[in-house]
Amino acid sequence: MTLTEFVDVVIVGARCAGSAAAISFARAGRSVIAIDAAKFPSSTISTHLLWAGGVAEVARLGALERVESLGAPRLPVGFAAIPGAPAIRATYTPIDGIDYGLCVRRYGFDAALVDTARAAGAEVREQTQLLELLVEDGRATGIVVRERGGRVAELRAKLVVGADGRRSAIAKQLGVSEPTLSHHNERCCFYSYFRDLRGEWRNVAAQWRAGRELGTAFPCDGGLVLVLLMPPNERAEAFRRDRETAFARTIDQLPGLSDRLAGCPRAERIIGATNLLSYFRRSSGPGWALVGDAGHFKDPVTAQGIRDALRFGRLLAEQTASVLDDPQQLDHALGNWEAQRDAECLEVYHWSNLMGRADEVGPFDVALYEHFSRPEHAHKLLDVHSRLLRPSEVFPMELVVDVSARPASGDQLAGPITSIGERPELALARYIARSDRRSASSAEHPD
Ligand SMILES: Cc1cc2nc3c(=O)[nH]c(=O)nc-3n(C[C@H](O)[C@H](O)[C@H](O)COP(=O)(O)OP(=O)(O)OC[C@H]3O[C@@H](n4cnc5c(N)ncnc54)[C@H](O)[C@@H]3O)c2cc1C
Repeated sequence: MTLTEFVDVVIVGARCAGSAAAISFARAGRSVIAIDAAKFPSSTISTHLLWAGGVAEVARLGALERVESLGAPRLPVGFAAIPGAPAIRATYTPIDGIDYGLCVRRYGFDAALVDTARAAGAEVREQTQLLELLVEDGRATGIVVRERGGRVAELRAKLVVGADGRRSAIAKQLGVSEPTLSHHNERCCFYSYFRDLRGEWRNVAAQWRAGRELGTAFPCDGGLVLVLLMPPNERAEAFRRDRETAFARTIDQLPGLSDRLAGCPRAERIIGATNLLSYFRRSSGPGWALVGDAGHFKDPVTAQGIRDALRFGRLLAEQTASVLDDPQQLDHALGNWEAQRDAECLEVYHWSNLMGRADEVGPFDVALYEHFSRPEHAHKLLDVHSRLLRPSEVFPMELVVDVSARPASGDQLAGPITSIGERPELALARYIARSDRRSASSAEHPD
């Protein structure tokens, strides 16, 4: 016999987006059950840099103390270098008093979020699998799950939240898996961990590019440094054939990264993520919402996904908890929440696609580095990563127009933009043109 339970909110997925929503609904006094097929602590395929804006989102959820107790060093400095240009070294404008990034392995980070959700009063059921979404008269009304041990339960709720990641089963069952806007990322991801013996780099989140290669070193918990390589997609085959050799050779092609890692032994296996698609999906409807990657994903090159999953998980609860009992008001609030997510994320999505292009380092990059290496501009770059400023408020218009005017370079270029029907960098240039008009007469406009 199937057991039926009634709660205000059910959430499928309990990592970044799901825990953030669970914490915030519970804090608002709502009954909430979050289920996850995983057992915590456990890892997932993702690197995990948070800029100061992401750390501020962790703090807003009340999870920062738990997360910091995992021992990751604070990262107050951002560093980026390419050949032939001065390096960029920048610090943050504080957000809610936070002026540092953090890089905490998902194994501990996600468990800290789950613990925070439980402490706030949410119920989190691990090793529990979604079987079916319940829809009545076009309205989501609950889910059927199989719990650890095999018990099948029906969880009825006023709101069903899909926080179940990029392959969201909730999106599939609602028929909204097909993106409304999408972009095939030009780079793939291969990452591993090294024992970090370089004390002088321990508080610096760093990126190097050379040729068409891109690599990062982010000091993290456990005395380790996370090394993420993002080669162009066509090099994925070399990694498939011999991951170890391709990883080592790519580091060799980035002399700055290679120097950074001198004397640091590899401590973990290499993990890969290829064929990544960035997208927006329709993310709300009668009695349902999709948060985090379930509704929207960006190129990891700008490291924004965790921050947005936390922020829009929290905002979903803050904007709907008081109207859960009135379906009409609830659906209206859900629509507003989705519109806010799109308004805050669309430009960053296009900017991420631009930053993720797999082009050779060239004159465009040299000009950008010359611009952002100046002390008066450097912190603005970190402020974009922290989301205090929009890319169009910071990137010099003439440079972006220059890159958007370059001819397409065949297969290496972006995949189809399904609903906007234009290249992402053109869309970004348009944003920038708009803000340029606004700021043309102000001294703030870059030279
Ligand atoms: C290679 C890579 C590198 C990245 N690097 C960064 C970075 O440095 N910084 C950053 O901010 N972001 C990064 N991101 C993005 C980041 O990983 C995501 O944005 C973030 O994990 C989204 O969190 P989420 O809670 O939406 O989804 P997820 O973390 O994917 O969690 C979804 C959860 O749902 C559960 N679930 C799924 N289906 C079911 C089901 N049917 N029943 C029960 N449970 C289910 C899963 O078990 C899982 O625990 C990266 C992504 C990739 C792929």
